[in-house]
Amino acid sequence: MNDSTLALLGGTPAVTAPGPHFTWPLITEADRQAVAAQMETAVSIPDRSGVIADLEDALASYLGVRHVVTTCTGTAALHSMYAATGIGPGDEVIVPALTFHATATPLFHLGAHPVLVDVDDRGQLDLEDAARRITARTKAVVAVHLWGLPEDMDALTSFADEHELMLLEDGSHAHGATWNHKMAGTFGTASAFSLNGPKPLSAGEGGFVATDETELYYRVLLHGQYNKRCRREIPATHPLARYAVTGMGLKLRIHPLAAALARTQLTRLEDHLAGRQTIAARMCAALDGVRGIRVPDVPAAARASWYALPLRYEPAELGGLPIERFLDALHAEGATEADQPGSTCPLHTHPLFQAPGSLLPGYADGHHQPADGFPAAEHVHATTLKLPVWSGADDVRLVDAYTTAIAKVATHAKDLT
Ligand SMILES: *Cc1c(COP(=O)(O)O)cnc(C)c1O
Repeated sequence: MNDSTLALLGGTPAVTAPGPHFTWPLITEADRQAVAAQMETAVSIPDRSGVIADLEDALASYLGVRHVVTTCTGTAALHSMYAATGIGPGDEVIVPALTFHATATPLFHLGAHPVLVDVDDRGQLDLEDAARRITARTKAVVAVHLWGLPEDMDALTSFADEHELMLLEDGSHAHGATWNHKMAGTFGTASAFSLNGPKPLSAGEGGFVATDETELYYRVLLHGQYNKRCRREIPATHPLARYAVTGMGLKLRIHPLAAALARTQLTRLEDHLAGRQTIAARMCAALDGVRGIRVPDVPAAARASWYALPLRYEPAELGGLPIERFLDALHAEGATEADQPGSTCPLHTHPLFQAPGSLLPGYADGHHQPADGFPAAEHVHATTLKLPVWSGADDVRLVDAYTTAIAKVATHAKDLT
């Protein structure tokens, strides 16, 4: 038996380094010190002071927006963004059918309806399908930048303008991604980001809303903050100031220790993005032309954050080998970090979207669901293999072992059929 025998069939694995092969976020001594120091300063912050102000200022300056409000999760940030823009009962919001559910689910808690729209072959919003689903109640369209590959923001901006819709962004995969040198999260009325564990910028748990509009900023504050923070930031003369003590009654603020982690992580974000850019290019070059595998097509206007490298699997080129069997073979080669997207999937397959009524009274089952489903979202999801994108120069050997493993399984796919 030689090196070309698949490990699944008893050959030598292509990846021999012991796992786990990818950890994120990368915790450094600076992170440990920042969090330890924060414990001595304050573990609960009721206003915009200390690390909360530091982080929000740093994020606002990084993105180039006027206002940032941090939150306890990205889901909460999305909820606050939708609430602040005045989306309410009966309103419809266009959301890609292929995303993480929290892009859409907060709308259920405002009485609004997520209107799912199919994606194109790149997994991005299909604007023809979106145009067909607009009604008199449609208020906004949400850009997601799946896996950190920015949407075509020229097309989305024109689409929103043409149909007089608010443009909103869920930047949770795309911290630091740009389209024509402009940051994801700065194209529309407002954007929401997650700072959850594996996201390109991580607080462990956290999120934030970004906007240039001061009125919206006050409303984001009133959605998830109360008393001190609202009283100090909303001018007493503003008509909403009288609500400052209670806000809208929800409390969604970030934990100071999480904020401290995100603050130090942010100082290294650009370095990580540059590292990921180099490694993603290396992976794509190694995999370009491998039978059965398509590397993503990144437009010249785009800088991706490479939250993951989404590869498209073409079973027809590999004798019909099912993707699950291809993955089993890859895992046997030691490429244990390769997987299929799990919870980022066609949303109409979730019971919450098919039959919300049992949990969310007032939502009719099957509402807004086209009978033919979302064929492209289903196809893209079923044929995507994703890999982490490493960022360190010393990760190159491992990266090369991964791409060797993929090429090896593809080349020998016929041994598995
Ligand atoms: C992670 C994620 C969210 C939710 O963020 P949490 O911080 O986990 O609440 C929303 N949208 C997308 C696209 C995400 O990936």
